[in-house]
Amino acid sequence: TDAITVIGGGLAGCEAAWQAARRGVSVTLHEMKPAKFSPAHSLPGLAELVCSNSLRGESLENAVGLLKQELRRAGSLFMAAADATRVPAGGALAVDRELFSAAITEKIDSHPLITVVRGEVAALPLDGTVVVASGPLTSDPLAVALQRLTGEYLYFYDAIAPIVTADSLEMDKIFAASRYGKGDGDDYLNCPLDQEQYDRFVAELLAADKVPAREFEKVVHFEGCMPIEELASRGHDTLRFGPMKPVGLVDPRTGREHHAVVQLRAENRERTLFNLVGFQTKLTWPEQRRIFPLIPGLGRAEFARLGSMHRNTFINAPRLLEPTFLLKGEPRIFFAGQITGVEGYVESAASGFLAGINAARLVRGEALTLPPPETALGALVHHITNTDARHFQPMNVNYGLFPDLPGRVKKKERRARLAERAMMALDDWLGNL
Ligand code: FAD
Repeated sequence: TDAITVIGGGLAGCEAAWQAARRGVSVTLHEMKPAKFSPAHSLPGLAELVCSNSLRGESLENAVGLLKQELRRAGSLFMAAADATRVPAGGALAVDRELFSAAITEKIDSHPLITVVRGEVAALPLDGTVVVASGPLTSDPLAVALQRLTGEYLYFYDAIAPIVTADSLEMDKIFAASRYGKGDGDDYLNCPLDQEQYDRFVAELLAADKVPAREFEKVVHFEGCMPIEELASRGHDTLRFGPMKPVGLVDPRTGREHHAVVQLRAENRERTLFNLVGFQTKLTWPEQRRIFPLIPGLGRAEFARLGSMHRNTFINAPRLLEPTFLLKGEPRIFFAGQITGVEGYVESAASGFLAGINAARLVRGEALTLPPPETALGALVHHITNTDARHFQPMNVNYGLFPDLPGRVKKKERRARLAERAMMALDDWLGNL
């Protein structure tokens, strides 16, 4: 058929449907609301912001500010609706949630090439081009169908450890070593703690404010994926026998092991980002910002993202998806939104934008397209589909994902230069589309 089926009328699904329809392709958009609501949704309209009404910072100092600017330039429905329904919020772009949803619903409902079908989808269409955009709270029957399609690579919970930028680490306090010298010597960076530092760290963890679990999120924590504060509460030395185990990590400067160690593992091939291994947490963000810098080497750490644990349906994108968001081995099924492992409202809409364009191109017999990696959109897509599949966890857009600038650039100017390069690359790409 020459039509596209989009499953899920959320942020990604609406953007995908809109972009495909703009390119002259007819779309059937399935949304289960209002017949059925996920535990986090409550408005009957499309494109519901389930929690905060903020689309985060506007400044190009933040990669999410750049991503929004790129989407505006590229003619995104999500951004047009956001700009039309914004409410004052200082340096952030916040919107009126009901007006935002109503604006998008009206645009989608009135588009002559888009048919909205209200009702739950329980199985994937057997033929035709499909965009799966059913979100982090995909309903159970569809999740079962997706599990059949993706095997063990569909997850229902994320456990995100904080990520720091490489250039904010105090390297004089850190040593490179793998446990028992296995693997490449410098696979891991290690932040050593003496007993006093460890004792203080554990005490702070125990006293810290935690985010309460929402009713539908009360999942039994499985071993190997426990929040660090939960481990700390089981006994003073539990962390030293778990994620902070010092055994087998010899400090080349002293030839000795430390009392405890926090390991950092590269998050991307460029080694610009490192995650704190095993440090998934439900501490509030201010508490994470206060407590993690107590770890030697992280005193001035810049957090590309903070830790969290959520109910979240997502697939192992680096294993399953082409960079175009097309499913490997099933080149008619695209994925879009949070289910691809992007994290956040703007990121979800952005992935819907790309999936929508490519779904239309597939139907029209045109070559699929990829945004340049220098753009925020391209950097995000590149990360999601190229990062190490063994440790895949959802990711926000951030400047650590961008390819380096050539030559030496002052740190202060770096972001402005990255943003400038991105907008030029974006214009080139859009011009060719
Ligand atoms: P959604 O916007 O959830 O859209 C999916 C749509 O598919 C929904 O409308 C759903 O009803 C529908 N659907 C599901 N299953 C079916 C089916 N079987 N058949 C038909 N329709 C179906 N990000 C932020 O940036 N800021 C936040 O504050 C924030 N808070 C969040 C809070 C919660 C509780 C959750 C779960 C996520 C939050 N996120 C937040 C992450 C993410 O940005 C949002 O979930 C975002 O809405 C994801 O967009 P999406 O299009 O992938 O999914």
